[in-house]
Amino acid sequence: MAVIELSNIRKSFGSLNIIGGVDLRIEDGEFVIFVGPSGSGKSTLLRLVAGLEEVTSGNILIDGEDVTDLGPADRSLSMVFQSYALYPHKTVRGNMAFGLEVARTPKAEIERRVQAAAASLRLETYLDRKPKELSGGQRQRVAIGRAIVRDPVAFLFDEPLSNLDAALRAEMRIEIAKLHQRLGATMIYVTHDQVEAMTLADKIVVLKDGAIQQVGSPIDLYERPANLFVAQFLGSPKMNVFDAAHVNGGLRIAGTGHLGLPSAQADIAKVGARPENITVAAAGQGNIDGKVDVVERLGSDTYAYIALGEGELVTVRLPGNARLSVGETVGLVLDMAELHLFDAEGKAWRRFSRDLA
Ligand code: ADP
Ligand code: MG
Repeated sequence: MAVIELSNIRKSFGSLNIIGGVDLRIEDGEFVIFVGPSGSGKSTLLRLVAGLEEVTSGNILIDGEDVTDLGPADRSLSMVFQSYALYPHKTVRGNMAFGLEVARTPKAEIERRVQAAAASLRLETYLDRKPKELSGGQRQRVAIGRAIVRDPVAFLFDEPLSNLDAALRAEMRIEIAKLHQRLGATMIYVTHDQVEAMTLADKIVVLKDGAIQQVGSPIDLYERPANLFVAQFLGSPKMNVFDAAHVNGGLRIAGTGHLGLPSAQADIAKVGARPENITVAAAGQGNIDGKVDVVERLGSDTYAYIALGEGELVTVRLPGNARLSVGETVGLVLDMAELHLFDAEGKAWRRFSRDLA
């Protein structure tokens, strides 16, 4: 169990500043996800916590103890990587036991821990198999088992599911969620996949260019993104963003009529609408007309891509059985209470619905 505190963490490689002053507190038992595009510094930040990289400046505390100058072995953390790197000639049992054998843990204790980890990962019947006799998902479970037997104060995961196919990834996501519920351990999990972030995290940390963009619960971040980057990074399909023009104390976007949103108070430059907050009506009956360009039927949902005058595509999420055909002109109806407003720097303004209250 561990509280992990990062204070003003900076990391440079030569003259490159990769992490630019990160402050973060991770609570005991919390499942925290670092999410961001490739190259945003997620792995570097995790490796700094693990002690695999040295900080350029700043401090790392685990349960109040300053571990900044301790090596990885002295931090009582376990790390699971994307490449599971199992010993091919050892069995599942041998792979899980190896670290404990090196640490001269008594045999009976090793066996007890391996059995417990195998049970929690549904690997009991595979203990005598070699890695090549396992599926990718099972191999990744062995790698997680290897971390569990060490009984760490916290688990660090770096894109552990990225090598798995989509179906296995979804299955393992649920396994990891259950594992967290069962162990109640502090977990830091790095991913570029916003679905993993939304579904697994107690707390999401969105990174861009080595800087934290926002920290909060998945729904917080989805409903109240602090800026355009977070707004468009979380959510699939992503949020539609329109340039806003100011007219008569209100706003117009993409050739709509007067939307009546408050504009006098702030320099609102962009308006965002999530695909589920736009519906379609007959032509002329919405805020703006558009021509249906592509229709994707997913069964449960329909995604319609609708071209506005300037060729700009708007994504709309509709029910699976929505009646809509390519080439048809429809009216788009924006849910005013759910629009997001941003200034010229991309900083979010308060949500319109809250502004009315
Ligand atoms: P992410 O995990 O978010 O994809 P990384 O933390 O791996 O990002 O990398 C962040 C940036 O730091 C990248 O631009 C990468 O090239 C750079 N970087 C990472 N490790 C090193 C290193 N050892 N030397 C130089 N640059 C590095
Ligand atoms: Mg990475």
